[in-house]
This record gives sequence, structure tokens and C-alpha cells, in this order.
Amino acid sequence: MALKTRITEMLGIEHPIVQGGMQWVGVAEMASAVSNAGGLGILTALTQPSPAALAAEIERCRSMTDKPFGVNLTVLPTINPPDYKGYTQVIIDSGIKIVETAGSPAVRELWEMMKPHGIRILHKCTAVRHALSAERAGVDIVSIDGFECAGHPGEDDVPGLILIPAAADKVKIPLLASGGFGDGRGLVAALALGADGVNMGTRFTATVEAPIHQGIKDAMVANDERGTDLIFRSYRNTARVAKKAITQRVVAAEREGKPFEAVADLVKGVRGREGLVSGDADHGVWSAGLIQGLIHDIPTCAELLTRIVAEAEAIIQDRLRGMIAG
Ligand code: NAD
Repeated sequence: MALKTRITEMLGIEHPIVQGGMQWVGVAEMASAVSNAGGLGILTALTQPSPAALAAEIERCRSMTDKPFGVNLTVLPTINPPDYKGYTQVIIDSGIKIVETAGSPAVRELWEMMKPHGIRILHKCTAVRHALSAERAGVDIVSIDGFECAGHPGEDDVPGLILIPAAADKVKIPLLASGGFGDGRGLVAALALGADGVNMGTRFTATVEAPIHQGIKDAMVANDERGTDLIFRSYRNTARVAKKAITQRVVAAEREGKPFEAVADLVKGVRGREGLVSGDADHGVWSAGLIQGLIHDIPTCAELLTRIVAEAEAIIQDRLRGMIAG
């Protein structure tokens, strides 16, 4: 049995589940494991230190899977501006056919570079107005990202229960639901709300193949749905991150009205990466979503995707169908 949606058809994948871009986690081991399990794995471009390193990572991923995989490119405020056009050129030259983008309108220039090469654009948005504007600009798939998500939920704070159907009412192209997904119940809910599949990030960080320290995965299992902090609200760049002493220091600094420069050393991505690798949770900051509250184990990606789809099918066939009274 399998679920067939506009997303599985368009992307040529078995399950309507796309691994979202994840800074420091979206490397070849992660993306190839998701693709081999029947979802769409995604390499995160900015995790690689240079466009040349991204080219090598794409080749490494190709050696690990013969299934489709994509690349994420996110344009948000950064401490050191990346060479976005250089990364985009590598994506084009490497023959990648699906790219997940997110972030500021500056990303449009990159779409214009990629579109003539037949690259499908999956654009992640946190508001219906942004989704419609991306659709008008010619993207192929919209991923609508609710307030539950890890990373940057935007500034409107609309949870998926409202945001997904609000987007589904207006967006005509295939729609992914993002933010708060990690099990079969969530997948069925996303489909019921009008999406054609789900984008998942945090759930994939608690898998055997995720390239992070075992202690960080165990902490995610131990955490509940209250285990995140919202930081950067005062800089209009809100981010949902795993809650720890270091993130509480950032929250306190923002309450005191301190500028980004006062917290930059605490939050810089390289520190987060060091902590994810060493297992020292308080060394740095990293993204985590509310789905943490529903993560209770550390399966392989294949076990996870098989379970999610089996759960979803059982809910549709047994539980929901059984409720129809006449
Ligand atoms: P970084 O070290 O440059 O910055 C760390 C954090 O601070 C990021 O969340 C960034 O957006 C924020 N930030 C930087 N300068 C800021 C400013 N002037 N005002 C407000 N906030 C500011 O980031 P990094 O870890 O090297 O990551 C590079 C980029 O990729 C960042 O923009 C980050 O948000 C983004 N990202 C992407 C994904 C993804 O899924 N692709 C996931 C997480 C982060």
C-alpha cells in the first residue's frame, strides 16, 4: 500500500514526505537515507563552507542513493553573507532538479537563474500572501510553514491548523504542510487540511542516520512540547530553537532591548554545529520544532517513513472510515 498525491507524482517519490533543509544536519548521510526510504531527501547548501564543497557533497550523495534528492537554499540574515549565486550555479551545473528555497524576496533572483534549467522550485513560506506571490512568480510547489516549525516561523504566529487550510483555499499548485509533522496522525491531518504531503525537519534529526551526537538525539526524545524558545523576535527574524540555558540568555538579552550584535557570539551557526557534533547541548543554539513533544524513539529513516505511512493508512481506512455512520 502507498499514498499517492500530487507531490509523489510530481517528485517521483514513493511517500508524500519531504525532508526540509536543516542547517548542519542536511548532509549526504541524511538526505540519501530519506531518499532511499522513499521520501525526498534534501541537502542544505549553506551547511557546506563553499559552492565547491556543495558540488562535492552532491556527488557524495549521488554515490549513496540512486533516488531523487534536492538541495535547500535559504536566504535570511547571516553574520557573513554567503555567495548565494555561486551555490546556485553549482546546483545548476550539478544537474539537481529540485530545490527547496526559503527566506527573503532576494531568493527570486536565484529562481530566475534556476528556472531555465528545468529545476523545480519548492518554496517554503510562512504566510498565505507570500505563498500566492511565490505561485504567481512561477514556483512549482509551496510548502506552508506553521508557527509550530523549527527555525524561522515568520512574524505572524499562525499555527498550521489555520495556516494550512487558509493556504489550501487559495494556492492552486501542489502544497506541502510544514511545521509540527512527525507521525501518521500529522500526515493524515495535513492531507485533510488540504495539503498534498508534509515537509519534516526536527523528526529527522532523531533518526539513526542524522549526523549529530547521540546525546542530542536522546535529549530530543526526553524533551516535551515545551522544549523550545523563540528568539530574535525583537530583530524581526524570529527563530524557534531548542530551549537551553544558552537560549534563555538570548531571550533575557532581547528583553533588555540589546541589539543582535550583543548575542551574535552566542547564536552563531558555527557554535551550534560544534555542539551538535560534540553533544555539549549548552555550547550553541540550534533549531527545533514543537514536534519534539511527539518524538519518543530514534528509528532509521526507513523505519520512520514506513511507520508514518502505515499509521496514516490505518487511520484513514479503519478509524476515519469507521466513523461514517450511514
Ligand atoms: P549565522 O551564524 O549567520 O547566524 C545565526 C543565526 O542568527 C541565524 O538564525 C541568522 O538568521 C541569525 N542572524 C544572523 N545575522 C542576523 C542579524 N543581523 N539580525 C538578526 N538575525 C541574524 O547563520 P548560520 O547558522 O551560518 O546559517 C546560515 C543561514 O542559514 C542563516 O540565515 C540561517 O538562519 C539559515 N538557516 C537555514 C536553515 C535551513 O533549513 N536551510 C536552517 C537553519 C538556518
